[in-house]
Amino acid sequence: MNTVRYVFEPPIQPSVAVAGSDARFPVRRIFCVGRNYAAHAREMGADDREPPFFFAKPADAAVDAGGTIPYPVDTADLHHEIELVCALGAGGADIPLERALEHVWGYAVGVDLTRRDRQAEAKAKARPWTVAKGFDRSAPISSVRPAEGRHPASGRIWLAVDGAVKQDADLADMTWNTAEIIAALSRSFELRPGDLIFTGTPEGVGPVGRGQTVTGGIDGVGEIRLGFAG
Ligand code: MN
Repeated sequence: MNTVRYVFEPPIQPSVAVAGSDARFPVRRIFCVGRNYAAHAREMGADDREPPFFFAKPADAAVDAGGTIPYPVDTADLHHEIELVCALGAGGADIPLERALEHVWGYAVGVDLTRRDRQAEAKAKARPWTVAKGFDRSAPISSVRPAEGRHPASGRIWLAVDGAVKQDADLADMTWNTAEIIAALSRSFELRPGDLIFTGTPEGVGPVGRGQTVTGGIDGVGEIRLGFAG
C-alpha cells in the first residue's frame, strides 16, 4: 500500500455545518465579491456599474456562527458585512451563465468581517487586502441550506448589532446575481466542489465592538448569530 507520509499531522479539513444534517460541508476556498450592491458601492466611493472583482480568504477563516469568537486583533475599526454565501457542489472553468446555478450545492448567511482601518491603508497604498479581509475567523457562516432547486434571487437581507438594525436590503439589489458571479469567477479560476463565494454586502456596513452580538438573516436561506468576546 502506497500511503502518503507527512512530516507532521495534516491540518483538519475546514468545514461548515449543514442545515438538517450532521454531515458537514468541506470548504476548499473562500472567494468574495467586492461592491456588489449599488448603494454600498456608492457608500465606499465607487461607481455602481463596475464589473465584479474578487478577493479571497483562507478556507479556515470559515467558522460556525452561533457562538462567541475572540475579538480580532490588529484593528480599531472592525466592520460587519452581511452576505449571501453560495456553496459550490460541482466545479468547472469557463462555466456558461445558463449552467452556472447547476454548480450550486447550497446557500448560507455569512459575515465578511473586515478590518476597515487596515483596508483603508491598503487602498491608499495600493497594497493587497489580505490583512484587511483574510484574517483568522474572518468568515463566520450559518449552516448551509441545500439548494434543492431553489436559488434565492430576492428577499430581505439584514444585520443588527445588539438588536439595532444596521443593514436592511433585498437580494434583488445585487448588481451581479449569483449565476453571473459564478460564470465570471470561473473565467479566472477553475472552480471546485467546496468553494464558497461571498456575494457582496448591501449598504449600512459599520463597526462592531468588543462584547457585542451580531444577528442577521436572509429570507429563505437562514439566520446567523455571532458574539464577540469582550
Ligand atoms: Mn464583503
